[in-house]
Amino acid sequence: MPRPLRATIHLDSMQHNLARVRECTPGAKVWGVVKANAYGHGLERGMRGFAGADGLALIETENAVRLRELGWTRPVLLLEGIFDASDAPLLSKYNLNSAVHCLEQIAILEQASFERPIDAHLKMNTGMNRLGFRPDQFQAAWRRLRAIPAVREITLMTHFANADELEHPRLTVREQVRRFCTGADGIDGPRSLSNSGGVLHQAELDAELSNDWVRPGIMLYGGTPGGKAAADFGLLPTMTLSSEIIGVQEIVAGDNVGYGSRFQAEGPMRIGVVACGYADGYPRHAPHGGPVVVDGLRSTLVGRVSMDMLTVDLTHIPNAGVGSKVVLWGAGLPIDEVANAAGTIGYELMCALAPRVQVAEGELAAHG
Ligand SMILES: *Cc1c(COP(=O)(O)O)cnc(C)c1O
Repeated sequence: MPRPLRATIHLDSMQHNLARVRECTPGAKVWGVVKANAYGHGLERGMRGFAGADGLALIETENAVRLRELGWTRPVLLLEGIFDASDAPLLSKYNLNSAVHCLEQIAILEQASFERPIDAHLKMNTGMNRLGFRPDQFQAAWRRLRAIPAVREITLMTHFANADELEHPRLTVREQVRRFCTGADGIDGPRSLSNSGGVLHQAELDAELSNDWVRPGIMLYGGTPGGKAAADFGLLPTMTLSSEIIGVQEIVAGDNVGYGSRFQAEGPMRIGVVACGYADGYPRHAPHGGPVVVDGLRSTLVGRVSMDMLTVDLTHIPNAGVGSKVVLWGAGLPIDEVANAAGTIGYELMCALAPRVQVAEGELAAHG
């Protein structure tokens, strides 16, 4: 009998969320972002869940090749481009689109020989100050890239720092779009700007922001980049982490629970022990009182999360006992809510799902 902890991936929800992207940004083509093992869902499952996407985008060169081996025939985009000259031939061999964000990458493309033309995505740094050419360097970079005979289409891209918060006091999406338009003035080519935050706020930004391609990640996985609830955007969870109660302790006032004896009971309580801990990817920083669902009912974490187990309050759920179903996140418990409680974001929880967790596939409805 395997440990009852399981991550169930809902391919039906992935399809639904992709349809939501298309509703938010009609007319734009969609890169389904499948970096980081499809945000913890598995690359191959990402490919199947987003089979309706116009292309798949990721970071890892070896996984881009893997997508081709798995039979993905539509575009593939390397969001950070290549890391080394030895990767350049892969671009034409496997027909990979490549971001180009620095002069060193342009120099590699100038020196490389390609068996077929390649498509590039020239990246502008519009205030994120991570990757890309500054707006005032962009035209020169574009001309140099344009002069490479093997380069076919050049898409113009940038990345938003604060698309989840439209009125961000330091840097707004509108300001980034303004810088982008200034830097790209007079250059032809498809535009690719929006991440999930941009897609979700397209309606408010419609006057300023237009995309030929969008690059949503987290919203495809039923999470949001900001504080708002995914359900408010019509998104469905794509990963349910579930387990069972494997032990129960009846405690009385003055008893403590777990490492550090961090929690002390003020009265009689029933404590359920759940087979899930930080070695499974559950955040160790999740606080006492953090949310959990037992047999369909809301409950809370008690004391500290340990490596293989965590403890929950069953006092108000008298029928719960060994074998009761526990949802850690997903169906009935938004991952963003669990992440917020633990001081992190849903992205991190999904991506940190540990290899020892069994992964299955199943429809959301069967868990809801
Ligand atoms: C990860 C990534 C995205 C997706 O971001 P989300 O916030 O998950 O939508 C888009 N573009 C680039 C360049 C990325 O690295």
